[in-house]
Amino acid sequence: MRSVPQLRTPQGDSGQPEFAGVSAESPANSTTVRFREPQIEMAHGAGGKASRRLVEGLFAPLLFASSTEPLGDAARLDINGTQLAITTDSFVVSPLSFPGGSIGELAINGTVNDLAVSGARPEAIVATFVLEAGLATEALAAEVRAMADAARRAGVSVVGGDTKVVEHGKADRMYVTTTGIGRALPGLTLHPAAVRVGDKVLLSGPVGDHGITILLARGELDLEADLRSDTRSVYPMVEALARAAGPGLRWMRDPTRGGVATSLNELARDCGLGVHLLEQKIPVRDCVRGACELLGLDPLHIANEGQFLAVVAPESVEVAMRALHAVPGGEEAALVGEVREQPAGAVLLTTQYGGSRIIDMLVGDPLPRIC
Ligand code: MG
Repeated sequence: MRSVPQLRTPQGDSGQPEFAGVSAESPANSTTVRFREPQIEMAHGAGGKASRRLVEGLFAPLLFASSTEPLGDAARLDINGTQLAITTDSFVVSPLSFPGGSIGELAINGTVNDLAVSGARPEAIVATFVLEAGLATEALAAEVRAMADAARRAGVSVVGGDTKVVEHGKADRMYVTTTGIGRALPGLTLHPAAVRVGDKVLLSGPVGDHGITILLARGELDLEADLRSDTRSVYPMVEALARAAGPGLRWMRDPTRGGVATSLNELARDCGLGVHLLEQKIPVRDCVRGACELLGLDPLHIANEGQFLAVVAPESVEVAMRALHAVPGGEEAALVGEVREQPAGAVLLTTQYGGSRIIDMLVGDPLPRIC
């Protein structure tokens, strides 16, 4: 589970509970299993609505019922006064490598980024490998090397791991799970409840590069584009932003599966406010926009692996933007929207033609096994 959404009573857009047996008043952290779907489908791993139903309806009530903390990209722990963050993430991307990265690099950066956007400095990672018998050693070594390089670049140590092998045909070459621990940056209170009307929404760079790169790397489309995955550690940008904005930094999230739309819908729902986006301010590369138009996808639903969203107080936005732009790789960071009272719990996009539409969370799984 990469990002375990905040515990809330699940509700649809209508404000009505999404599945039977749930009343809007039910405490979300009760031990009642509300997930009623007969089997797991691909959409349950897509990071959108179905994932949320699974996490909130099955995992949370049984595993996290005792937790009083809201669930986010990483869990917070207080060990003898030291504030730590811990997170885990599995990688099943297909193909294993693609322009700009590979499964090994994603496995490090993904976990580093979940710690970073939780307001923690990534310190150490352990990795688990599930390998299919028959996997070429060369392919495995390339991924282990990619992990070592990514860890070095991110300034995090890989301190342990585990290996399991399954029969040929029982897995698709290799899967990697990484678990990371980080130290909380001082002076931050990141929480949907800290978000206020008038706060500004920042985005670290162009959206959709990773998802569309994977799609093109599969060769199922007769499309070519000079595009690379955006996989990278966002920690340097997060650290600069945290230092510049301090307590003016209210919330962060890395918009991976489900994209910017899903992350911001989760925020809107969790803070009970409306998130307004300006389409013309959202950086999208032409080839990503073109591929999305061709496929009927919204760039806001496409996965990113090296971007993050932040909400900052209006008085901090200037220093925040300056700080982001000064970090290598942060040059394209943009102020993309703001928080208003209405539409409560939803995301509203003002299009470049001046119209507006509600942007929903990802529904279904248009691009399976993207990370
Ligand atoms: Mg995340």
